[in-house]
Amino acid sequence: MEAPTVTALQTLKALVALQEIDVRIRDLEKDRQQIPARMKEIDKLLEEKHHELSEEKNQLAEVELARRMLESDLKAEKEKIKKWEARLNEIKSNRDYQALSREIEAARKANLGIEDEILRKMQDIEDLKTSVSQKEEDLNESEKSLLEERTELKKKLDSLNADIAKEESTRAESLGQIDRRWLAQYDSIRKRRDGVAVVPVLDEHCQGCYMGIPPQQYNTVLRGEQIVTCPFCHRILYYAKSLEEMSEDKA
Ligand SMILES: [Zn+2]
Repeated sequence: MEAPTVTALQTLKALVALQEIDVRIRDLEKDRQQIPARMKEIDKLLEEKHHELSEEKNQLAEVELARRMLESDLKAEKEKIKKWEARLNEIKSNRDYQALSREIEAARKANLGIEDEILRKMQDIEDLKTSVSQKEEDLNESEKSLLEERTELKKKLDSLNADIAKEESTRAESLGQIDRRWLAQYDSIRKRRDGVAVVPVLDEHCQGCYMGIPPQQYNTVLRGEQIVTCPFCHRILYYAKSLEEMSEDKA
């Protein structure tokens, strides 16, 4: 697959372009990576808020039921006392009269306790109703903004997916211009060197590891007749000016 017409400079230029595409893809992927986590977080937050609200509504219903039961107990107890009071008038024996009077007194006292309990329940109902309506209001508000955010995230995700697909197709096209040997070298260095496999030289130094390059190798890089790798970090080296001149020649 060696293409003899491809010069070292052309290969370097294609490698630099490929690296630019790869850096863009990496950045896009980094942006994309954060989106599903936030979407999940939003879903969880909304679910929690709905759950909290429904828990409190259940609690309110329970307290309301308890209050109704207490009220019906109270009503039954009051009717019982009324019957006992009617019976009092028919009792002849003083002892029986005293006994029933004491029963009535005890029942009245118990009813006071039930009434207190009903008042406490009414206060609880009041408090729960306030809290439920606050939670409903809060949910309405936050749900609106969270759903908006979620819609935005979905849009962003779609657009990132489209951008990445576009970059990947450009990448696939650009691969054809690069000799396989250098492509393999590029890929292997890129993996080891955090995505940067092709670097410029400046003042006799590699701009990847900043080590000085021996003069003979440095001159070879400047001439651009063959591809040189850094003896220290093994990145592919290029001389920026010769690539620029090459672009100008083309233009
Ligand atoms: Zn280096």
